[in-house]
Amino acid sequence: MNLNRREFIKLGLKAAVVAGGIAAVSASLSPKEKYWGFVVDLTRCIGCGKCVQACRTENKVPEGFYRTWVERYTVTEEGQVLVDSPKMGEEGYTPYPPETDISKIKGGYFVPKLCNQCENAPCVAVCPVGATYMTDDGVVLVDYEKCIGCGYCVSACPYGARYLYPEDGESEYMRGKVDKCTWCYHRVVRGLEPACVYVCPTKARVFGNVLDPNSDVRKYYRLKLKQPRPKTGADPKLYYYTG
Ligand code: SF4
Ligand code: SF4
Repeated sequence: MNLNRREFIKLGLKAAVVAGGIAAVSASLSPKEKYWGFVVDLTRCIGCGKCVQACRTENKVPEGFYRTWVERYTVTEEGQVLVDSPKMGEEGYTPYPPETDISKIKGGYFVPKLCNQCENAPCVAVCPVGATYMTDDGVVLVDYEKCIGCGYCVSACPYGARYLYPEDGESEYMRGKVDKCTWCYHRVVRGLEPACVYVCPTKARVFGNVLDPNSDVRKYYRLKLKQPRPKTGADPKLYYYTG
């Protein structure tokens, strides 16, 4: 079977995630190559919102818009799941959702969300001018020079990860163009972590080179992980660890 590099990596990751094994993948990859991966450990997230705040500052995200956000899922004794996200989690959470009978709460968890850098990204497929594309190291970016702000990609993204940068936004060159999380690619190419990963006090956000067998992200591939809504067919490269 002849596979190009991306297909090979994908196959390796799937095998690692499904079977929990990574030895065959690491043995065949050049240590010089990079392909970025992201895991969110839901057992660690405390819903503090520091990631959302750091993202806003780092990426000049205008008020009322988000490249990343945090949702709270509260499970009741009756098995009901209540979802809330005041200010998209940016200011953290009260201990319990408002107007909820505390005696009936069984448990809950926080779910940080961001662009999944989908392998089969609908946003890339629909862009009429090729402004949205994937880099060789696996990150979906927007070329702001090419973007005409038509918004097709905003509608096509099944995860609500894109928005139209407002005309009064701080970043002049992004005005009227579509913006989204890039896993802070501008930092990554300089050897830094994404801002949200850097500030997370509990290490709930894990980013790294999936081709490096010693990376933290690869360690998570030994565990059972979940893709966000896999039925979309977009094949997200962001995974969740739920314990
Ligand atoms: Fe969760 Fe970390 Fe974000 Fe706080 S900074 S909300 S712990 S992911
Ligand atoms: Fe595109 Fe949405 Fe997937 Fe991000 S999450 S790559 S914006 S389809």
